[in-house]
Amino acid sequence: MPQNPFKNALYQLKSIEEFIPEKDRQYLAYLKQPQRILQVSIPVKMDDGSIKVYEGYRVQYNDARGPFKGGIRYHLQADLNEVKALAFWMAIKCATVNIPFGGAKGGVQVDPKKLSAAELERLTRGYTRAIKDFIGPDKDVPAPDVYTNPQIMAWIMDEFSQIKGYNVPGVVTGKPVEVGGSLGRDTATAQGGFYVLENVVKKLKLNPKKLKIVIQGFGNAGSVMAELVSQAGYQVVGLSDSRGGIYNDKGLDVKAVIDHKKQEGTVTTFPGVKIVTNKQLLELPCDILMPAALENQITKENAGRIKARFILELANGPTTPEADQKLFKKGIIVVPDVLANAGGVTVSYFEWVQNLANFYWTKEDVFKKLKPIMIKSFEKVWKTGQDYQVDLRQAAFIVALSRIIQAIKVRE
Ligand code: NAD
Repeated sequence: MPQNPFKNALYQLKSIEEFIPEKDRQYLAYLKQPQRILQVSIPVKMDDGSIKVYEGYRVQYNDARGPFKGGIRYHLQADLNEVKALAFWMAIKCATVNIPFGGAKGGVQVDPKKLSAAELERLTRGYTRAIKDFIGPDKDVPAPDVYTNPQIMAWIMDEFSQIKGYNVPGVVTGKPVEVGGSLGRDTATAQGGFYVLENVVKKLKLNPKKLKIVIQGFGNAGSVMAELVSQAGYQVVGLSDSRGGIYNDKGLDVKAVIDHKKQEGTVTTFPGVKIVTNKQLLELPCDILMPAALENQITKENAGRIKARFILELANGPTTPEADQKLFKKGIIVVPDVLANAGGVTVSYFEWVQNLANFYWTKEDVFKKLKPIMIKSFEKVWKTGQDYQVDLRQAAFIVALSRIIQAIKVRE
C-alpha cells in the first residue's frame, strides 16, 4: 500500500507547530485542509471513435498571499490525496521563496504515454473547460508538472482564451515562448536547484570536482540538473527514468545519455554501464543524491542504506517523515523540495509578471533575478535551521508558515 502523501504533508505541518508562537498557532488550522477541491470528469473521444472518461482534480490549497499557483500532473497515480499534498507543498514553497502566490495543484488520472497527440490535446482542452471558472491570472495559474509540458500549457492557454474571446497568456505558465512563455522557464527548476546546491557545497566546504552525484528521474528537472552539474565539474555516476537506472563509478557522459534518451526513449539501454533498479539507484555510493521523480522514494525502509552526504530534493515529497528523522539522526542533510525545486515556480512568477506587463525579459534578466531569490531563501532557511536546531524542511516550514500566518492576520 503506497503511503498517503497528504498524511505526510500534515505530519510535516504538525512537526513545526511547537515553533510557531503560541498566539499564532490557531492560524495553522487554515492549513490543515484545502480551501477548495474541484473534482471533474473529462469525457474524451478517442481516435478510434470510442469515449473514455478521465477523472481530474484541481485543489486550491491556500491563497492568503496571492493567486493560487501550481502545476498539473498527468499520471495514473494522481489521486486526490496526492494532488492535495502537492497543492499544500506549493503554498509552502511560494512562501519559502517569498513570491506573491498561494498554492494549488491539478492532476488527471491518465497514462499520457498511451494517448496519441490528438487525444492528449482533447483531454487537455476538456480539463481546461472543466476548471475554467476557477482559473485565471488573478485566481489560479497552472503550470507543467510530471508528464505535462509547454505544448499542453499552450492548449490550456488557447482553450481558455477562446472561451474568454481574447488572449489570456497569464492564465498558465510554462508556455512556449511563442505564446508568452518566459525565456529560461524550461531550465528554471534545475537552475534554481543548482544555485542552492552551490551554496550547500560552499557551506560544507566541499570541492565540487570531487563530488559524485546520483539523480533519480530524467525529465525536465532531472535531466537539466544532470547537464548543469556535469558542466560545473561534478561527476554524475547514476541516473534513472521510469524504466530503471544506469551506473558508472567513473562517471557518465551526460550529454550522450540525453541524446540516447531522445532516440531510444529510455536511459536503460545506454551502452557500457551497470543497470540498476530505481530502488538500488537510491542506495548507490555517492556524495549527493537528487530525487527528481515522484513521492515516497526515501522511506524508513531504505533511509538507513542511503550513502549520500546530502540529498537535494528536486521532486516534490520524495522523502517520508520517518525517513527525514532517520536521515537527520545520521547527519545526512536533506535540502527540501519546497526550497530546492522552487526555481520553477519563481520563474513561473516571472512569466506571469511578463504576461501581465506584456513586456518580455532576456534570459540573462531572468537568471539575474532568480539567483538572489534562491540564495536569500537558502540562507534564511539554513539560519532558521540553526536557530531552532531543526532539519531544513522544518526550517523552511517555519519560514513559510510564519509568512502565511502574517498574511492571514493582516487580512482579518
Ligand atoms: P517530467 O515528466 O519531465 O519527468 C519525470 C521523470 O521521472 C521522467 O524521466 C520519468 O521517466 C521519471 N519517472 C517516472 N516515474 C518514475 C519512477 N517510478 N522512478 C523513477 N523515475 C520515474 O517531470 P518533471 O517536471 O521533471 O518532474 C519531476 C519531479 O520534479 C516531480 O516531483 C515534480 O513535481 C517536480 N518538480 C517539477 C518542476 C518543473 O518545473 N517541471 C518544478 C518543481 C518540482
